Amino acid sequence: MTEALHCVGCGAILQTEDKEKIGYTPAAVLAKAEKDNEVYCQRCFRLRHYNEIQAVDLTDDDFLRILNEMSQVDALIVNVVDIFDFNGSLIPGLHRFAGNNPVLLVGNKADILPKSLRKTKLTRWMRQRAHEAGLRPVDVILTSAKKGDQLEELLEKIDFYRKGRDVYVVGTTNVGKSTLINQIIQQSTAIKDLITTSRFPGTTLDKIEIPLEDGQYLIDTPGIIHDYQMAHFLGERDLNIIAPQKEIKPKVYQLAAGQTLFLGGLARFDYIKGEKSSFTVYVSNDLLIHRTKTIKADEFYQKHSGELLQPPHSDEVADFPELVQFEFSIKEKTDIVFAGLGWITAKNPGIIRGWAPKGVDLVVRQALV
Ligand code: GDP
Repeated sequence: MTEALHCVGCGAILQTEDKEKIGYTPAAVLAKAEKDNEVYCQRCFRLRHYNEIQAVDLTDDDFLRILNEMSQVDALIVNVVDIFDFNGSLIPGLHRFAGNNPVLLVGNKADILPKSLRKTKLTRWMRQRAHEAGLRPVDVILTSAKKGDQLEELLEKIDFYRKGRDVYVVGTTNVGKSTLINQIIQQSTAIKDLITTSRFPGTTLDKIEIPLEDGQYLIDTPGIIHDYQMAHFLGERDLNIIAPQKEIKPKVYQLAAGQTLFLGGLARFDYIKGEKSSFTVYVSNDLLIHRTKTIKADEFYQKHSGELLQPPHSDEVADFPELVQFEFSIKEKTDIVFAGLGWITAKNPGIIRGWAPKGVDLVVRQALV
């Protein structure tokens, strides 16, 4: 091949090596294409023929280019985040790239929240965290892409805020952005018809432009990989364990000072000082929790990580970052939030210590439940 071939749908350079990256095309398809020189990458192909969007990842530089472009157009930005990994979902500098464009914040995976949780408290917290990151969303909405919950409300909000403009959908990997866009496509007959009939403009690179009824576009951007997402450190098998599939069933532990809980081998919680008290753990129902004495916890972790304390599984322990500690003094009912895992609610005042893989965020907030 003398010259790189481009996808006639999105314009990405076609490649046959990496399924997760943009421009992927099976080698057989590409071989055939060189003759007539008209080929869609697999992502565009699936969108045209099955009305289905595929997730792709992008390097930081390429992503920056797309963000830059976003700052120069007049559009609505829909930022999808994982409510279980809010910090891991934040796109560094998004507020700068958004410029004057409105940002609609979508907290996805709401189906796994326990029923006892007040949604308004969560959206308030999301707004606060967004503000701390410099982002001022015009609105916050909780959805479940998986179950299709709140989709109609989301579409109404998108329509309201876009005011006839294009819509950019952005998110870090694994937040459920593709699942969400697929739901939108499936539910909106008008979009579905347009996709199968229209040709993609082909003037833009690396993005999928889904035509909207009024001639504007819903633009799916590749997911940016956040280096310090818990999900980033784990293999598929372990991801299935930590990503809650169903509504979380809170587990209550009565702890005395000097006791420790391990969340698999991924995180640790020490109760340092305070009266005997109850702590409620909100993590995936499949994640095993072990209680031990704090004084023995280091040794316990050394000995059992990858075996009794998993995930990570033994073959992945070597690549897993060390756990680092954060100490908090608790004054009121508080959640200790382990990004990408869930949280532990402490009811009474005391001193606690949380441990998370180096680089993964651990924050406290006023209890949501
Ligand atoms: P993307 O990388 O942001 O495009 O994310 P995907 O759409 O590929 O989804 C990542 C993972 O999250 C998959 O395992 C999905 O099944 C799961 N997921 C997506 N949306 C939801 C949701 O609303 N609820 C739950 N529980 N899981 C979801």
